[in-house]
Amino acid sequence: MQPAEKTDAEWKKELTPEQYRVLRKKETEPPFSSAYVSKNDRGVYVCAACGAELFSSGNKFDAHCGWPSFDRPVREGNVIFTRDTSHGMDRLEVTCARCGGHLGHVFDDGPRETTGKRFCINGAALTFHPA
Ligand code: FE
Repeated sequence: MQPAEKTDAEWKKELTPEQYRVLRKKETEPPFSSAYVSKNDRGVYVCAACGAELFSSGNKFDAHCGWPSFDRPVREGNVIFTRDTSHGMDRLEVTCARCGGHLGHVFDDGPRETTGKRFCINGAALTFHPA
């Protein structure tokens, strides 16, 4: 993938205020605020900032946590993992490998019958493309 690097001013101009707060300022959207939480249509979820393919509807599951949840990214290498010790927690942050946008975090309480991972992703960081 070609990296997508832009200045903060460019991102602020291109993204909606909510997308900017999540993707560039690493904020978390309120639980159950995204229409993608309960979306079950077949398709692919791409980065709302740079368009990189990130998650597939085939790997989406209902985690009852209020954020779109997946058991794996669409492709190894499309996301980057970084230890995040902010807010008094020790978590693994998930970012877009192409533009560095903040997506959410990954936890080890996902479906045991598949990967055991729960990618807890802000809907504001994603754009859905129907299959
Ligand atoms: Fe991106």
